[in-house]
Amino acid sequence: MPKNRQRDVRQRDAMTSPRFAQIATFARLPYERDLSDIDVAFVGVPFDDGTTFRSGARMGPSAVREHSRLLRPYNPFMNVGPFDSLNVVDWGDVDIVPGFILETFEKVQHDIMFLMEHRTAPLVCGGDHSITLPVLRELAKQHGPVNLIHFDSHLDFWDEYWDGQKYTHGTWLRRVVEEGLTGVVVQAGIRGSQYGASDMDFAHDHNIDITFIDDFHRHGIELTMKRIVDRFPADQPLYISWDIDVVDPAFAGATGTPEVGGLTSWQAIQAIRALAGWRVVGMDVVEVSPPYDAPGGQTSLLAANLFYEMLSVMARNTEEGLAIFPG
Ligand code: MN
Ligand code: MN
Repeated sequence: MPKNRQRDVRQRDAMTSPRFAQIATFARLPYERDLSDIDVAFVGVPFDDGTTFRSGARMGPSAVREHSRLLRPYNPFMNVGPFDSLNVVDWGDVDIVPGFILETFEKVQHDIMFLMEHRTAPLVCGGDHSITLPVLRELAKQHGPVNLIHFDSHLDFWDEYWDGQKYTHGTWLRRVVEEGLTGVVVQAGIRGSQYGASDMDFAHDHNIDITFIDDFHRHGIELTMKRIVDRFPADQPLYISWDIDVVDPAFAGATGTPEVGGLTSWQAIQAIRALAGWRVVGMDVVEVSPPYDAPGGQTSLLAANLFYEMLSVMARNTEEGLAIFPG
């Protein structure tokens, strides 16, 4: 059982109940709205009206749950059982408002605020990338401005789309910076064509650090991730926003705006493991669009594993005294 906890939450035992049986929840954890003694909650946000190209990310949470059935209780590569030191549940989905982005943001904030009141860290499953903005609003209220690693092939800090629309999956990061929700911001995996040479000016003007995909391929994951994490003090709150399109479409083609030349699945997993020792207070994986997936659901499968690796990081940190919510 996790330290100082009355409850001991576990996955459904696959030796008693086969993995393909029962209703799909994340990692076969309980579907639970009582967050007392719960350290981390998987939260689905099935909203994709912020997309600018292919939609379908509204189906992300249910597909990721379905493809998380194989996640087992021990991670040998990090020598940790994430559910030994953390109580983790599936919160279910935010009741978003299809077609109405600001109303949806309110719903997301309402649920994330509830998590924060219970000192429960969110693993947010999108949905398109616009939903990171309301999540960070609530995290910043709890923790103060959070440092951010934004894995993506896209910059996501354009000012507007469609003649003046400020809230889309391509503009959320500019709103986050304007609202003062973040400390140090690093973007990782950027690639692909852009609208113009001035696209990156916002990064230069606001001290946002861009790590292009070339660094990962040329220098390797280990060195590149070390250079990234060394920009943050390890005990400051760090949020990870992971757009699945940072991974190459050969491995994760089920996404709205795919870009070639990305990370492999293995590199993605390694990038998350490199965060052990840094105080991660939440994570999202967004832009999984299951209607474009291979029949076996490879993109959703990867997303499920990214969450699992992050849980392993959070569990290792907790065991080593680096609490998600200190004090
Ligand atoms: Mn993207
Ligand atoms: Mn994005």
